[in-house]
Amino acid sequence: MIIAVDGPTASGKGTIAAALAAHFGLAFLDTGLLYRAVGRQVFLDGGDPDSPGDALAAASFPDALLSDPHLRGEETGGLASRVSTHPGVRAALFERQRAFALQPGGAVLDGRDIGTVIAPDADVKLFVTASPATRAERRWKEMRSRGSPATLAEIEADIRRRDARDTGRKDAPLAVAPDAHVLDTSGLGRDEAIAAAIALVESLRRR
Ligand code: C5P
Repeated sequence: MIIAVDGPTASGKGTIAAALAAHFGLAFLDTGLLYRAVGRQVFLDGGDPDSPGDALAAASFPDALLSDPHLRGEETGGLASRVSTHPGVRAALFERQRAFALQPGGAVLDGRDIGTVIAPDADVKLFVTASPATRAERRWKEMRSRGSPATLAEIEADIRRRDARDTGRKDAPLAVAPDAHVLDTSGLGRDEAIAAAIALVESLRRR
């Protein structure tokens, strides 16, 4: 079984995708991490994330970079969102994601274009979302617990900027696949959102 989990930043899709993988015994790939690695590599190279050439050169980052703790930071998230607009970068990362999706035993992938581009043949497609205000508040709480001084207003502005870039880009924009099931986590706690996703997948695979 292939499960595609797409959605905007801080929607809860990563948590849900990891929980689905554990529940159904499937391999799991957070594809955002690949774009984050490209963003981080551009920074380490002293390159320009808005230059297609610099970004493409960074797409051959070493695998060891995937365990760099800097990858999870807000700054790298912003760089990832910029390098991910280049079609060359997306093409360079395509095969790796496609091969992961097709592995024997099945897989869960989370990202922005899994149900539309990477695995349009996925057995189940979820589009996880939440209001920008809810997502900003979640991100703010998480960042505050890590000692970050960023304000709620700054975080919400950054989330809206990233949404606009992700949905507005020409190549593989963030979009709800026609056959995706939308799960809005705005009013849900972590465990409730996971339970809702598991129930949804159970009901769809029985069809
Ligand atoms: O999901 P995450 O916040 O880690 O992703 C970082 C950035 O990588 C996103 O803002 C998006 O621009 C990009 N991305 C993408 N396609 C994916 C996964 C992430 O364009 N499949």
